[in-house]
Amino acid sequence: MIPYIRKPAGDCEHACCLKIEHLSVRMGQEAILEDVNLHMHCGQMVALIGPNGAGKSTLIRSILGQQEYEGAISFHDEGGKNTRLRIGYVPQSPAFDRGDPVSVLDLFACCIGRRPAFLGFRRPMREKVLRCLANVRGEALIDKRIGALSGGELQRVLLALALEPIPNILILDEPLSGVDVEGMETLMQMLDEIRRRFDLSILMTTHDFSMLERYCDRVVLMQSRILRQGTPLDVLNSDEFAAAFHMGGGARA
Ligand code: ADP
Ligand code: MG
Repeated sequence: MIPYIRKPAGDCEHACCLKIEHLSVRMGQEAILEDVNLHMHCGQMVALIGPNGAGKSTLIRSILGQQEYEGAISFHDEGGKNTRLRIGYVPQSPAFDRGDPVSVLDLFACCIGRRPAFLGFRRPMREKVLRCLANVRGEALIDKRIGALSGGELQRVLLALALEPIPNILILDEPLSGVDVEGMETLMQMLDEIRRRFDLSILMTTHDFSMLERYCDRVVLMQSRILRQGTPLDVLNSDEFAAAFHMGGGARA
């Protein structure tokens, strides 16, 4: 793997940065997230981990603007200017009907095109979709029915869709769940390549810790609040990690 020059973790002044400050979410009487503070710099791959129900998806929904919260989420570019954050989002394994006649081209055209689908697609749209699919080496999938795609293929199509237009931050909720070891490796390598090429940040939730050390700059362990954040080795070997996952000692990565 080509070494990647990782961004300094602490210096936000000269790096583009997504800042989450004192973020709290309540649902009824229950505090789902409490005082979450997180900085993410462009080009970083950050894994969000924690037991089921820890609030990972709630944090993602807050960043996406789909969840009310207290606190602040802001984004500033390399010049330090506050700008609107462009987010690409790959949801957790959405279900499509196996018999659905919609093709990958149809899906893209509906999401990124301006013409109603029943008018048919012009050649530039097909070319644009091929360019998008090339980002995930998925050009051959363009005429396949969505319902006929394998789990890994569907994930690549959704990833290609999330990259149009190229976002500042790409968020993936549990992209490794239900994917075999080979599929995980392929996806992680693809994400690594994408963040280098486009200098974007990637935030992903996962329950698979085997990929963290090789691919992630930082790991954030949470359970309602942030228990620990740092390098993969630091977090995986911490007492907080062992306690959160009820282990006798830290995980040996
Ligand atoms: P994770 O993604 O880490 O598994 P979630 O963010 O999905 O956790 O859930 C965090 C907590 O919020 C859980 O206790 C869950 O039951 C609760 N929760 C999630 N969505 C809702 C909702 N719409 N209404 C009430 N409670 C919810
Ligand atoms: Mg979740």
